[in-house]
Amino acid sequence: MPHRVLVARELKGLLEPSQLVDLDITWVAAGEPTPKGDYVAIVPLLSRWVGGTEFKSLPNLRIVANVAVGYNNVDVVAAEMRGVIVTNTPGVLTDATADLTWALLLATARRLVEGVDLVRSGKWTGWHPHQLLGLELRGRTLGLLGAGRIGQAVGRRAPGFGLRILYTARTAKPDFERDTGATRVELSRLLSESDIVSLHVPSSPETKGIINPETLGQMKPGAILINTSRGDLVREEALAQALEDGQLGAAGLDVYTDEPAIHPRLLAAPRTVLLPHIGSATEETRRKMATIAVANVQCVLGGKPPLTPVF
Ligand code: NAP
Repeated sequence: MPHRVLVARELKGLLEPSQLVDLDITWVAAGEPTPKGDYVAIVPLLSRWVGGTEFKSLPNLRIVANVAVGYNNVDVVAAEMRGVIVTNTPGVLTDATADLTWALLLATARRLVEGVDLVRSGKWTGWHPHQLLGLELRGRTLGLLGAGRIGQAVGRRAPGFGLRILYTARTAKPDFERDTGATRVELSRLLSESDIVSLHVPSSPETKGIINPETLGQMKPGAILINTSRGDLVREEALAQALEDGQLGAAGLDVYTDEPAIHPRLLAAPRTVLLPHIGSATEETRRKMATIAVANVQCVLGGKPPLTPVF
């Protein structure tokens, strides 16, 4: 008897029929409510909240195989209490997300969007020694708030640009320090010494709002903030204010608190590069994410341990 499984419709085309054997799939589009029934697994995108209602209306549920490394869209406490396994997709999206972080870093430091806008406006009058001067990276300091897989991958790309690296993490990363010369510091030192602060901690009760009026006030005047982790790490109103006041030099964001809505003051704020949550958006990475999620389902339904459980 095939197992009844709910899978995000948007994953169609990223999965091969051979990966779906023995699964009786109901494809659910983003925005559609989660159907009720005797489903044993759900493979949601990060935009679907899986919480108390789902756990109640899916009494046979055995696994939530989230198609993301972050899993703040799943009520893991409720899942644990129900004995439902939760898995994520760590590792496969590390390089794609680190590359996109660098795209934002370079775009903000060198004012790429303003340059593109100037060219397209037809108002560019030619090379000028004072035009669109940006931040020289060599000799500056990159502060990584979180140095797990993605934070370290971002840091490993930094020595080529001549950046010094500071990082925060709950545990020291000796290999990373040896390979890159990075130094582990307290948050307050990271904020006060970094020219670019890049966020790589997961969203959790401890990290939500970690960038707020107080921590923004500790950042170097003119510093750049990059966020490719989760939107709710940042108090967006306060970030907009810091950009409006000129206290921050620029912000490069891929993620927002209330996606796909974007705080209107952030949309209007100067010197921002705003992307539509495309950190992991490469063909190869998206296939690997879908593959791991479904492989986790197949493992659990086949009586084996999941490949990438979150707890
Ligand atoms: P990871 O390997 O688990 O790294 C997380 C880092 O955060 C670790 O250094 C960890 O410290 C630190 N950390 C965790 N909780 C903390 C806390 N309460 N206080 C201080 N530091 C804390 O995760 P990852 O694979 O690098 O992914 C990071 C995040 O990126 C994900 O959670 C996800 O939200 C986001 N992401 C976004 C995109 C996108 O499309 N924009 C794509 C992929 C991932 P320890 O190492 O000491 O435990």
